[in-house]
Amino acid sequence: MIKPKQIQRIRRVLVVDDQEINRDALGVILEDHYDVLYAENGKQALDICREYSGDISIMMLDLIMPEMNGFEVLKTIREDEQLRNIPVIVLTAEKSAELEALQLGAADFIAKPFLDMDEVILARVSRIIELSEGRQLISAAEHDPLTGLYSRNFFFEYVNRIYTYHPELHMDAVVMNIEQFHIVNALHGRDFGDVVLRVIGEEIRAFLRETEGIASRNEADRFDIYCVHQDDYGALLKRFQKTVAEISPNINIHLRMGVKYWQENLEPTLMFDRAHAACNKVRGDYQNPLMIYNEAMQEKELLKQKLLNDLRSAIEQRQFKVFYQPKYDIQSNPPQLSSCEALIRWQHPELGMIPPGNFIPLFERNGLINIVDNYVWAEAARQIAKWRDKYGVTVPVSVNLSRSDVFDPTLVDRLVKLVAENNLEPKQFKLEVTESAYTDNAQRLLDVISQLRTLGFEVEMDDFGSGYSSLNMLSEMPIDVLKMDMKFIRNIESSTTDLHLVQVILDIARYLRVPVVAEGVETLGQLNLLRDSGCNLVQGYYFSPPVPPDKFESLIQKECEAERN
Ligand code: C2E
Ligand code: CA
Ligand code: CA
Repeated sequence: MIKPKQIQRIRRVLVVDDQEINRDALGVILEDHYDVLYAENGKQALDICREYSGDISIMMLDLIMPEMNGFEVLKTIREDEQLRNIPVIVLTAEKSAELEALQLGAADFIAKPFLDMDEVILARVSRIIELSEGRQLISAAEHDPLTGLYSRNFFFEYVNRIYTYHPELHMDAVVMNIEQFHIVNALHGRDFGDVVLRVIGEEIRAFLRETEGIASRNEADRFDIYCVHQDDYGALLKRFQKTVAEISPNINIHLRMGVKYWQENLEPTLMFDRAHAACNKVRGDYQNPLMIYNEAMQEKELLKQKLLNDLRSAIEQRQFKVFYQPKYDIQSNPPQLSSCEALIRWQHPELGMIPPGNFIPLFERNGLINIVDNYVWAEAARQIAKWRDKYGVTVPVSVNLSRSDVFDPTLVDRLVKLVAENNLEPKQFKLEVTESAYTDNAQRLLDVISQLRTLGFEVEMDDFGSGYSSLNMLSEMPIDVLKMDMKFIRNIESSTTDLHLVQVILDIARYLRVPVVAEGVETLGQLNLLRDSGCNLVQGYYFSPPVPPDKFESLIQKECEAERN
């Protein structure tokens, strides 16, 4: 049977004394319980400590010795990262030295000579070891082993204490991040990544020795610093950037930093949220990698929050308005209304008319876009049926799909149901999917789109040319229409290069047998060039901006009259 004592680790005790008689005396007391090592002076003691990488449970240290005395040993180990946790009991004959030893970090002292003190010495040694190991356990959880900075939870615990108990300290919140750290890891290996993190950690600790503050590694590559106000954060960031650059001159690593200045009564977690938001604001901006959180950002943040909060009531009170913008077939003469695109606006009771660019991306990021899109699709489907019943013609409507719509498993069922409820044919309800959605998780997207097309829906690739889809990818893509991004059209009247580019795109589309919609056509000149280059469809202010349904009706009426004549 194994006794509990045997499975316990045998602790190492290092006895340091220049007098053999003292070493022997302690050896007799300790050797039954510990693995005892001996040194005759400070130098030897340090060598042994280093040989065991600091894995010494306790040091019994004489003060007066040749070569290197006990005070010097104390000083040295306190400054040595690896050795500073070794507790030291000082062995002394003079009372006067005790205080100085304690000030240098000694844990306890024992007076020489050691007469009839076996039990007392053993008890002290074991007590000090216990205390020190307990403290180290806490310290391990407290610190990130890689950088030596606080771990996240302890950091916020201490930050809150500083905030609560030292209101006189005006502390700023600083968040620092490494650009594309996952790529640094992937390209140069995790070991290199660890070196980068460690070096940043070291420099942050160096900084914190010069100023008041604490720091943590919050996530993989995010560093949080809570420090008294610095006048020049640009210089601070440069300092960290410089240390990182010195690791490896051939590898470019960019840091970015966001700062929230101290603000009365603003809780630290909120300060760090804002510093983090500021830090994200400069993501990828290598020219201006520093952002101080400011009023404008705060207002934007509040506005976003307001829009998110107001979404439900906006749906209930039907504040969202669906506008329609016509697409004309320009190969017929005169151009003929062929379909339209549904584009949402928000008639906000306090903020007025809000364009989609101000809330669609926000709702996309927050997983709320499906609510809005469902609303638009239902409106649009009803509108097609309404016009059909009123004018006897069907104007197909294209609706916009967000990425997350495409990955919603209920999408196909919902669309099928919607079309059936309004007695529409699927091809009258077209779906615009932005090109950038095709680039990641392409396979899943292609599956959904194939499924929809099999059911008869038509899919248009929106904003074509704004993303990175390659030409060979395009040939495999199941799409019915290409919508050329408006940036291609803008300058075709003045730039032959731009015109040629448009013609190349039209050539490719012809080769793939998909019709092209040119978006953002504003002038007759653009229209003529596009028509002559073989472009099929045009959408843009030249014909009409997006308009509310009643205004769109006059376009339908005009079309019906032209038919009759
Ligand atoms: P998009 O799908 O590329 O829509 C075309 C945008 O170009 C519309 O902006 C339209 O008003 C604008 N536009 C049309 N003709 C011209 C022109 O001749 N010149 C110029 N300069 N602009 C023109 P809008 O309505 O502000 O919509 C912006 C974006 O918001 C849309 O871009 C679309 O991505 C998104 N969006 C709009 N409605 C919805 C929706 O219901 N659901 C989703 N998920 N996204 C929507
Ligand atoms: Ca669109
Ligand atoms: Ca577009």
